[in-house]
Amino acid sequence: MSETCDVLIIGGGLVGASLAIALDGAGLSVALAEAAAPRVDLQPSYDERNLALARASLNALEALGVLDARAPVAPVPIRRIHVSRRGDFGAVRLDAAELGLPAFGAVLPARELGNALLRRLEACSALARLAPAQAVGIEAGEEFVTVELRVGETTRRLRTRLLVGADGTESFVRGRLGIEAERHDYAQSAFVTTVTTERPLAGTAYERFTDSGPVALLPLGERRAGLVLSVPSADATRVAALDDDTFLDFVHERFGWRVGRFSRPGRRKPYPLARLLAARTTAPRAVLVGNAAQTVHPLGAQGFNLGLRDALTLAELLREAQAAQADPGSADLLARHAARRGEDRTATTSFSDDLVRLMGNDFAPLRVLRSIGFHALDRIGPLKRRFALRGMGYRGDTPALSLLR
Ligand SMILES: Cc1cc2nc3c(=O)[nH]c(=O)nc-3n(C[C@H](O)[C@H](O)[C@H](O)COP(=O)(O)OP(=O)(O)OC[C@H]3O[C@@H](n4cnc5c(N)ncnc54)[C@H](O)[C@@H]3O)c2cc1C
Repeated sequence: MSETCDVLIIGGGLVGASLAIALDGAGLSVALAEAAAPRVDLQPSYDERNLALARASLNALEALGVLDARAPVAPVPIRRIHVSRRGDFGAVRLDAAELGLPAFGAVLPARELGNALLRRLEACSALARLAPAQAVGIEAGEEFVTVELRVGETTRRLRTRLLVGADGTESFVRGRLGIEAERHDYAQSAFVTTVTTERPLAGTAYERFTDSGPVALLPLGERRAGLVLSVPSADATRVAALDDDTFLDFVHERFGWRVGRFSRPGRRKPYPLARLLAARTTAPRAVLVGNAAQTVHPLGAQGFNLGLRDALTLAELLREAQAAQADPGSADLLARHAARRGEDRTATTSFSDDLVRLMGNDFAPLRVLRSIGFHALDRIGPLKRRFALRGMGYRGDTPALSLLR
């Protein structure tokens, strides 16, 4: 591989890998450097978390050849959404069929999406993949950014016309570029596991809020569900140590009995929850995408969906630049990326945060307002449709690949 490239992506997680695939065949020389070895069990985010993929994300992943009929595990469609809060009146019930839609999105374990991304990366013709390769140094320059990579025992220097930081919440790239980030620790941990339900889920995703944290149930099969249960961080060690029966009693106490008795819980893994927002997403010849640019609470199921839109928009702009023989790291391209992503980024990060704050608050007048809001959203058709379309990922300046269906 030449030691100079057009685009160097640091981080081959869900977003960085998607970006590399979206640039396949664009005529640009692209390199992807990932700190972990390219195996699904070694990459940190290709794990047991269940991802609710918005329709717009599914469209793009299908168009890019990541998700296709050959995949061993197919995404499970979300046909209904049920949102409620313990102690409030009413609930919001969304039914895709009632709104003339086949489904709102689908659920796929991150491990399976990781497998699909790794398979598709294998087929990228002009991509230089470096893994394990960790970025350890960055030098800015007028024409190029030079990145130092630790590859095994050796160090390698690569020059790139555009550096993309797709290296997650603790982004090394963001730090080295001197981009500040605002952080907020929610003092909560989310336990992710699977459970079997007594009654069929019929494609329903449930979101239930309680004073001590939210719980979500995502359909993975007729009677198999992905569970995300948030608890105050101070409680995380205790919940991790519960035996299976006591854990299921705890889940029932939070979630109720809407789908009958839970059984056969899978392994439980806690994730500490924090929000992060980079003060800006660009620097000369560099751009941040995905969790490196913004990390949101998983409650709204927006993190990857939002990061994928960052990546798809960047790929669109880079393809246009390449067709016009323009510089892929130009200030103009970076300004256009920041402008196109601005609205979606602000709206989606504040939506996820507002949801956590609004639903977690037990202030009595707020409970009444919330109940009225639930009632209104449940009854008013156009409001419901607008809410649903935003949840499906059609927000801001939607990238073309997401609009196919
Ligand atoms: C419990 C949970 C549930 C979630 N559910 C949903 C959901 O339903 N829907 C949704 O859209 N999102 C969801 N998310 C969010 C989603 O998982 C993240 O937004 C997504 O993983 C971000 O992808 P990324 O590629 O930006 O970052 P990451 O996945 O963190 O990947 C970053 C990559 O960069 C690599 N890296 C780091 N530093 C370096 C370096 N110096 N050099 C080279 N490589 C480096 C890492 O090894 C890693 O592979 C959930 C998150 C959690 C925790």
